[in-house]
Amino acid sequence: MSKIFVFGHKNPDTDTICSAIAYAKLKRLKNFDAQAVRLGEINPETEFALKKFGVEIPEEMHIFEGKDVILVDHTEIKQSADDILKANIIEIIDHHNLGDIYTRHPVFVRIEPIGSTSTIIFKMFRESNLDIDNKTAGLLLSGILSDTVILRSVTCTDEDRKIAKKLADQLNLDLEKYGFELKKAKSDILSKTDRELIKSDLKIFNRINMGIGQVEIVEDIDEKRKKTLLEEMKKIRKEIGCDTLLLMLTNIIKQDTELLVVGKTDLVEKAFKTKVENNRVYLKGVMSRKKQVKPAIEDAALL
Ligand code: MG
Ligand code: MG
Ligand code: MG
Repeated sequence: MSKIFVFGHKNPDTDTICSAIAYAKLKRLKNFDAQAVRLGEINPETEFALKKFGVEIPEEMHIFEGKDVILVDHTEIKQSADDILKANIIEIIDHHNLGDIYTRHPVFVRIEPIGSTSTIIFKMFRESNLDIDNKTAGLLLSGILSDTVILRSVTCTDEDRKIAKKLADQLNLDLEKYGFELKKAKSDILSKTDRELIKSDLKIFNRINMGIGQVEIVEDIDEKRKKTLLEEMKKIRKEIGCDTLLLMLTNIIKQDTELLVVGKTDLVEKAFKTKVENNRVYLKGVMSRKKQVKPAIEDAALL
């Protein structure tokens, strides 16, 4: 039996890393030879979670040609391994819109409109009547809390809430307290360069020819920093060859987003029915790229 590699998207976030590790574990419990790997550097939030539960960082890997792979937390070619279409995709587990990845062979796909891939992995453990050990429980809880912004995002469902509570109970953890510890580790923006901030959670979407990054903050970013961020975004937009590059500055306390915009602005203006002024748009109550920003822009592109 050949080895199966399980991985999430580029610029990995906590849900991508944790769901890959947990799902590889589930596959091993079912006697498959499965290993979680990653497509890039992990962020400080993920590092914090792995340390907390005593789990090793998965190996970084980039060449998958001819290998059996399972994708978690993404279905977009641009977000996956560069040679993904030459790999043998055997399963996809995700919670995003169905993207543009296609397969040569029939494939097991499970996509649910739910707060995190980690939530789906929890359900798959339960459906297989497998116990969830504490390390895995910690990973799944971290994935859920990270992706749902401590159960506050519009993407969060009752199922996510119920499962997060179960996991927190198993671990004897205060859900809110652990969630904020996790987010604090991520929102350490002062120690990062502009380039690191912009690229740390950047996703590229082929169909709208756009890059959308997101930074979670607990305090507003000052004007000076926004200006240098915008300058760096202009360079990065050219490098990735997209029409537009957006950076969501999402304040998880105020639960709003300031959108920094470089490149073409027409779709953004249409999507949010407002002018882009000074390269920015304020979006009250917006926290989710997946549910509130990207679909609005895609709809605007279709009009
Ligand atoms: Mg993700
Ligand atoms: Mg996710
Ligand atoms: Mg995410």
